Amino acid sequence: CGIVGVLGTHEVSPVLLEALRRLEYRGYDSAGIATVNDGHLDRRRAVGKLVNLSDLLVHEPLPGKSGIGHTRWATHGAPTTGNAHPHKAGPVAVVHNGIIENYRALREELHASGARFATETDTETVALLTERHMAEGLAPVAAAMKTIDRLEGAFALAFLFDGEEDLMVAARKGSPLAIGHGEGEVYVGSDAIALAPLTDTITYLEEGDRAVLTRTSIEIRDEAGQIVQRHAKRVSIDA
Ligand code: GLU
Repeated sequence: CGIVGVLGTHEVSPVLLEALRRLEYRGYDSAGIATVNDGHLDRRRAVGKLVNLSDLLVHEPLPGKSGIGHTRWATHGAPTTGNAHPHKAGPVAVVHNGIIENYRALREELHASGARFATETDTETVALLTERHMAEGLAPVAAAMKTIDRLEGAFALAFLFDGEEDLMVAARKGSPLAIGHGEGEVYVGSDAIALAPLTDTITYLEEGDRAVLTRTSIEIRDEAGQIVQRHAKRVSIDA
């Protein structure tokens, strides 16, 4: 129901938790975060309130300066820890707002090619499809773009990759997504409120846009894959 992402210069877990807290008003049943640390992609998830996730992180910390986070409002699959986001398949982790309408067809296709499902969610197809594209030899960005091209429905997505501490891919179609500009950092969030403590400079993705983000670069492409300019705005929200 809410997504956040940070390519940062400090430990990111507390930053992700705070950003998720600012999205609590949307409602949610579970939450999770993933980070890349020393090239290693890992995640923590918990059912219920964010305090359950923050308690888990006390016992099982998740170091790293790059991460994505999610508060889930289950649409496909029960609100369990296993169905909570981020979803991970091999070298890729994904958080998703919305519904992948064609997930059944994608599931059948992935199943037929030997993919193993760990959840009942529509979102897991996004992770598994991207894993497959990478296994076929595509680099992370190309693999994610090829996946996004196949998705129908409403989504805001953020992708993080194993071995890639300075790379995030984000996309929107039918669900809003804001990109925040920092000093040597970059953020994504379902809305600017989530990012208010971090930045007041926001670029809103337009319908169908995909963004390739590093700490020092923001490249936005439209649905046809053409690089486009989207202008940054100053927003004033109480941090
Ligand atoms: N459809 C996805 C799920 O059920 C995402 C729901 C959401 O937007 O939180 O896991």
